[in-house]
Amino acid sequence: MKKHNFFAGPSILPQFTLDNTIEGIKNFAGSGLSVLEISHRSKEFIACMNDTIALCKELLEIPSGYQVIFLGGGASLQFAMVPMNMMNKKSAYLVTGEWASKAFKEAKIYGDAVEAASSKDKNFNYIPKNYTVPADADYFHITTNNTIFGTELKKDPDVSIPMVADMSSDIFSRPVDVSKYSIIYAGAQKNMGPAGVTMVIIKEDALGKVTRSIPTMLDYRTHIKAESMFNTPPVFAVFAAQQTLLWLKGLGGVKVMQKKNNEKAQLLYDEIDRNKLFVPTIKDPEDRSVMNICFVMADEYKELEQPFADFAKSKGMVGIAGHRSVGGFRASTYNALPKESVQALIDTMKEFEKNN
Ligand SMILES: *Cc1c(COP(=O)(O)O)cnc(C)c1O
Repeated sequence: MKKHNFFAGPSILPQFTLDNTIEGIKNFAGSGLSVLEISHRSKEFIACMNDTIALCKELLEIPSGYQVIFLGGGASLQFAMVPMNMMNKKSAYLVTGEWASKAFKEAKIYGDAVEAASSKDKNFNYIPKNYTVPADADYFHITTNNTIFGTELKKDPDVSIPMVADMSSDIFSRPVDVSKYSIIYAGAQKNMGPAGVTMVIIKEDALGKVTRSIPTMLDYRTHIKAESMFNTPPVFAVFAAQQTLLWLKGLGGVKVMQKKNNEKAQLLYDEIDRNKLFVPTIKDPEDRSVMNICFVMADEYKELEQPFADFAKSKGMVGIAGHRSVGGFRASTYNALPKESVQALIDTMKEFEKNN
């Protein structure tokens, strides 16, 4: 049976990425070696790294003055690297979910990290509005898409201090005004590639302003200077990410992708709003994530949660269980998820409603 992959991460990748990765494992770039066994200093891999960086710059229209690097350690390592490299005394965080909370907690180790606003009072089911960002903070940190709770900041905010964003789960899903940010980081495994690599976009003149000493491996300047080759980069993960970016470019880039993603999300939210068995956890359409769509059983149908999970499984739906802190269901509709999979989930929901 055809499987529909709604996992939140690692998550679905384009068939193009899978096919080319399989080929690269057998014979990487015509080298006669596997991508798993080739030196990161080989001319073939250096070309792959350079092309991956160039694709990031092209697809996100990254202005000059910015660098793109690829690091290990996941987005979670960035929670610490950002304050180490960017905070002298004070920073401000928009606390909109579990990942944002983790980033905020790390920042407190390095100085006076303050909450600009938080939506914790309602289990992170909305995006705070009308807050003020302290003008004396060294940076303002946001999480553009809250993978677990299903809210998203769809517009790049305007603030007067340097801005840093964790875009792990919505990078490349829509255009971004990179010029508004000092740092953007994203773990690859949601929308770019397999686990094991994190993309970081850095405005070069934002660095070098802190007085603390930074371990060499945790200093962004080390990796910028060495063009992501200071130590062995995750060769395989970078190659697979390159394939996904090539696929995205071939489809027409992030604007085209945004349109497709909005269509998929609208279809599914419409069904959740219509179907009497389900309710959305995020009420305000403006705050609803286009990438992670969360819903629960309506109060009077709570006992149907497990039966629906079983029914959906029998129809080939994979990875739709909600995160334990929200419950219910979460359908992740990343770039690579085809509209047909969203339609299959909707058909499953309709059929289950009819049967109950
Ligand atoms: C998945 C995720 C992370 C954590 O990524 P790791 O690579 O596992 O460290 C951080 N932030 C967001 C928004 C995520 O979705």
